[in-house]
Amino acid sequence: MTPRPARAPAREGARAGAPVRLPPAVTPLLARLGQLGDARGVAVYGVGGCVRDWLLGRSRLTDLDVTVEGEGPAFAQAAAKAMGGTLQVHPAFGTATLQLPGRNPRRRIDVAGCRKETYVRPAAYPVVARGTLEEDLFRRDFTLNAMAVALNAARFGALADPFRGREDLQRGRLRVLHARSFLDDPTRILRGIRFAQRFGWAFEAQTARRLREALAAGALGWLNAGRLERELTRLLQEPDPAACLRHLSRLLERAR
Ligand code: ATP
Repeated sequence: MTPRPARAPAREGARAGAPVRLPPAVTPLLARLGQLGDARGVAVYGVGGCVRDWLLGRSRLTDLDVTVEGEGPAFAQAAAKAMGGTLQVHPAFGTATLQLPGRNPRRRIDVAGCRKETYVRPAAYPVVARGTLEEDLFRRDFTLNAMAVALNAARFGALADPFRGREDLQRGRLRVLHARSFLDDPTRILRGIRFAQRFGWAFEAQTARRLREALAAGALGWLNAGRLERELTRLLQEPDPAACLRHLSRLLERAR
């Protein structure tokens, strides 16, 4: 079973925080999404890897992830109506992908409603239910991918960081959200290696121990072929795939 989020000890709760400097090229689009949220009375956030990249000062303009405190697909439909583009709804997952007009296929926004996840079996797909923003952040792989930026006009740019992701980001530290994280979803082992190599980060001590334990338990072997292939392909698309493979090999060696 996936544990519940511990009460956040952080200075910044899920709803407050220092503003994030957003890339000027993407700010009007984000503000537009916030206005659409205002009009519908829902809270809208940029979330996950794009927030991490913006905090790193990287001008990430593509593959944006948006989470709303409400129905993701309904919000995405409203966004498609207002901004144009092609909408694909994934009803089984309660998510939608909006491909914005223009030539760049990566000018894409993935929209989901805030959700919580429960893992009834290691490495199985989780049971998903509607959740709060904090629960939505708690289900993520590492603290530095578990931050959100408010897009509604009144709080535009405010960081939600209940698990101290910003501090981990500043220290270059990959930290899982809870003890069972790698067992629940072993793809996080490979994701962690990708981020460690791409950004020069290190696993925090307890996270490193949990990762070794998961590898020793054979967790990568629990993944079905499709998921393993997808993650390995992403790993091989990193700027230095050989370094990723060496890192994985070292970790497997230590886990024996
Ligand atoms: P990249 O920079 O390689 O695209 P990303 O962090 O943007 O990495 P995505 O795979 O696009 O990664 O996922 C977006 C976000 O969804 C992540 O930042 C993370 O918050 C969450 N996420 C993705 N995969 C997982 C997972 N297996 N377990 C938990 N959270 C995940």
